[in-house]
Amino acid sequence: MKTGEIMPESINRVIGKDAQRNNIFAAKMISEVVKTTLGPRGMDKMLVSDNGDIIVTNDGVTILTEMQIEHPAAKMMVEIAKTQESEVGDGTTTSVMLAGKLLENAERLLDQKIHPTIISKGYRIASEKVQEILKDISIEITSDNENVLRQIAMTAMTGKGAEDSKETFADILVKCVKGVQEDGKIDMNNIKIEKVIGEKIQDTELIPGVVLLKERISKDMPPKISDARVLLIDFPLELKNPEIETKISISSHSELQNLINEEENAIKEMVEKISSTGCNALFCQKGIDDFAKYLLAKKGIYACRRVGRNDLEKISKATNSRIISNLSEIASKDLGYAKKIEEVKQTDDYVTYIKEEENSKIMTILIRGGTVHVVDEIERAIMDGLGDISSAINTKLVVCGGGAIEAELSKRLKEFSSKITGRERLAVYEFANALEFIPTTLAENAGLDPIDILTEIKRRHDTGEINAGLNLFTNKVENMLEAKIIEPYKIKSQAISSATDVATMILRIDDIILSKPQNKGKMNDTGNMPDFMSSLN
Ligand code: ADP
Ligand code: MG
Repeated sequence: MKTGEIMPESINRVIGKDAQRNNIFAAKMISEVVKTTLGPRGMDKMLVSDNGDIIVTNDGVTILTEMQIEHPAAKMMVEIAKTQESEVGDGTTTSVMLAGKLLENAERLLDQKIHPTIISKGYRIASEKVQEILKDISIEITSDNENVLRQIAMTAMTGKGAEDSKETFADILVKCVKGVQEDGKIDMNNIKIEKVIGEKIQDTELIPGVVLLKERISKDMPPKISDARVLLIDFPLELKNPEIETKISISSHSELQNLINEEENAIKEMVEKISSTGCNALFCQKGIDDFAKYLLAKKGIYACRRVGRNDLEKISKATNSRIISNLSEIASKDLGYAKKIEEVKQTDDYVTYIKEEENSKIMTILIRGGTVHVVDEIERAIMDGLGDISSAINTKLVVCGGGAIEAELSKRLKEFSSKITGRERLAVYEFANALEFIPTTLAENAGLDPIDILTEIKRRHDTGEINAGLNLFTNKVENMLEAKIIEPYKIKSQAISSATDVATMILRIDDIILSKPQNKGKMNDTGNMPDFMSSLN
């Protein structure tokens, strides 16, 4: 019986070996794409969208999500990067590369007629063992060791847009994460990142408090307020437009005038009420019209309008104020406090700083740089650094970078594999080989000979130097702890676990059933999906 007899015409199928090879091919492609960006000497990619928007980036997850990948297995690979991004915030390239390499090595085993379920099982055994070893050899830190945290931030940012001023950045990031720490917990929502174009990258600053990309609504308002009493409202201070919003018929000009007077009085009352609470800074989620603006300015109140809900909530947290929806219920105690509120001129426009003394429940990093592309890439580097610092604080464990940890894991896993009987042993061994992909790629991307470097790293590990890795500042194999190239444990444990999950899942697929989309994704006679990565052509 042919497939067509039990499945509709619109279904495409690839079965058995073809399905496996097809998926492995796609996964390898994905890994190849991001590979050249790994490490401080990795290159950037330029991504151009349909409408001509440009992103220049080195960030694995950004590249993959922007690529609009269609192949189902390739999409699963992209998911690894996304998980890595959300769980740790860094290490996306590493995780995807590991999965790709696991699958590539599995292909070798498939060629030797080893069944995919055996390979999967071997990979599972290997992954468990690797996690155990990883935990064993990672280094404990105290969460208040700022030097270590700074080194972690610097390792994360080396080779990214933020590289030139990475010391300044490392300071900013550590202060920022420590600032928002509450009872040892870090909520990334309490960190606000804003970007302004103009000025230099080095002018990027950390502000304890909230920065709003908004100016005060009237130049008659004071540009700076010390000891601000902050009121947040989520309703408009506007005359209602009688033609649109109310259904009353007006027969004469005087009636209209009365109505307007009434509304004006209502606004006057509201402003009176606001001012009577002692408020001298007002942030409104909705509009504030000219009349209200005039009255507020007369009262000496600093005001911003159309402040996003998210920002309003951050100000609420930073200043300890309540967001008011109904003015009649407002009391002095609902107001918050900010040490200083001020309007600050940027290159082209003005922004508002709502500033606390030293520490604030909300910290803002205001990124500055010459162009949109520059500040966007810095933001990604900063996000990596923030993720790393917070995961180091959370788990209090770090490992050596520069391929050192992967080399040691690989070595110990190989030793472990020799004790395994059965064919799974080969898979465990291939898993260990896959880990070496990280040091070799770091070398390759720096234009060094990957074989020479790997040989040297392995030799050093064989003599017990478990921290030997490739230092890309000196291009030599050195002790990574001394070179201060360290990373959080979580990057590696997450990368290994999601890479294993996806690799084993893809391996077990022996049947791809594809509903035929309109024009794309159609498989040709050889079972390939010719345009699965059409966006790359
Ligand atoms: P990912 O998306 O996986 O984080 P990166 O491009 O950020 O990829 O590269 C991370 C890798 O670069 C890690 O293996 C890290 O140890 C390594 N690395 C960072 N700084 C250095 C350095 N100075 N020398 C050698 N390796 C480094
Ligand atoms: Mg990184």
